[in-house]
Amino acid sequence: MRKVSKYIYYDHTISLCNVCRKKVDAKIIFEGNNVYMTKSCNEHGRQKVLISNDIEFYKRKRNYNKPSDYPLAFNTKTERGCPDDCGLCPDHEQHSCLTLIEVTDRCNLACPTCYASSAPNYGRHRTLEEIDRMLDIIVRNEGEPDVVQISGGEPTIHPQFFEILDLAKTKPIRHLMVNTNGIRIAKDKEFVKRLAGYMPDFEIYLQFDSFDRGVLADMRGEDLLETRQQAIANLNEVNLSTTLVVTLQRGKNEHEIGEIIRYGAAQKCVRGVTLQATQYAGRNEHYNPDTGKLSIDEIRKLILEQTSVFNENDLIPVPCNPDALTMGYALKQGNELVPLTRFIDPEMLLENTTNTIVFESDENLKENIFKIFSTGTSVERAGEVLNEIMCCLPKIDAPNMTYSDLFRIILINFQDAYDFDIRSIKKSCVHIVHKDGRIIPFETMNMFYRN
Ligand code: SF4
Ligand code: SF4
Repeated sequence: MRKVSKYIYYDHTISLCNVCRKKVDAKIIFEGNNVYMTKSCNEHGRQKVLISNDIEFYKRKRNYNKPSDYPLAFNTKTERGCPDDCGLCPDHEQHSCLTLIEVTDRCNLACPTCYASSAPNYGRHRTLEEIDRMLDIIVRNEGEPDVVQISGGEPTIHPQFFEILDLAKTKPIRHLMVNTNGIRIAKDKEFVKRLAGYMPDFEIYLQFDSFDRGVLADMRGEDLLETRQQAIANLNEVNLSTTLVVTLQRGKNEHEIGEIIRYGAAQKCVRGVTLQATQYAGRNEHYNPDTGKLSIDEIRKLILEQTSVFNENDLIPVPCNPDALTMGYALKQGNELVPLTRFIDPEMLLENTTNTIVFESDENLKENIFKIFSTGTSVERAGEVLNEIMCCLPKIDAPNMTYSDLFRIILINFQDAYDFDIRSIKKSCVHIVHKDGRIIPFETMNMFYRN
């Protein structure tokens, strides 16, 4: 008797062994309502990883791919094959929409979950000269970099923190972010006032994982609840643009997604929430990826379940890297959030759109829509672009908006060995500038290129 499989074989790719990170062949299969990656390592045996719980959305994401947009320069040669040539090597298929610069290895916390393995006495601060050189590498690659994120470790403990910001502001960077755990922001109002002086085109990217003291202690090593709330209060006082960044682990904080989005939307300073599953790299105490890893499509479904704002069509794949990024915008109207995609059909992002009315009248419109659905566009800039879009759309009585009327949800999947897919890693658009001059995808940096 011939056998029939219990699954549908959909695709093939190259992945990594979950354990030893050796390259292995992998299949993408549909089984029940789920998408799995299956692979086998000579040493560590067969592995099966859940990569989506939404087959239709998983398939739909590929339609959103747009032509690759390359950096002005590449930094390495393509010799040994992906991911051993980072980077960026000429085989990479997307420029840096967002580049992190790690100005210090050190931190005032030692979180059990930390992709950079930071701690108070770990590594060292970069010198201003090194930082200047690293910023110039980003500028050489990008010309006018879209978004540069000052990161660490904890950048606010760098003794020359404000000199670093001043230096970054002399470069042709469109939007600057500070990635922080918020401790200094909570403690020091004068510091926050000084930070606010760097606006416009300046934003705080604030770690914000949970309202549960136990979860915070488990993920961050300390109960940071009051610290987070005080940080938000201080940022509200000066209305300094802030994105809440939520790192998720199944069984810990995924039930809080809706509450965090509602909380963020009610804060004057908060422009959006970024949700990301924990990447299995760096320090991962109290975390087992076999049970705790969430896929980006699961997170999307949890948003749909836990909020009444967004529906299926409001959270859509981001064309520069649709496998790894999903995005949704809402307009703040009083206390209400109204999804932008009620006004703009997301299908407009597709090349073969049937909705040609608008594009026929203005070819720039499509480009503008690509622009707002990009990690390289800040909410501030998205507000300006939206005003241009809104006035071209028929039958919309849209008020003139500012970025403070906008609220953005971003879902990011930073692949690790479990779900590594060579097809989509080449589209990674969030990168880290290495102190040796390379620009390395965030995912491969944390897996392979630290130390
Ligand atoms: S991830 Fe990109 S930069 Fe790294 S080796 Fe692959 S193609 Fe090259
Ligand atoms: S996760 Fe952030 S706050 Fe925590 S130790 Fe690492 S760098 Fe510091």
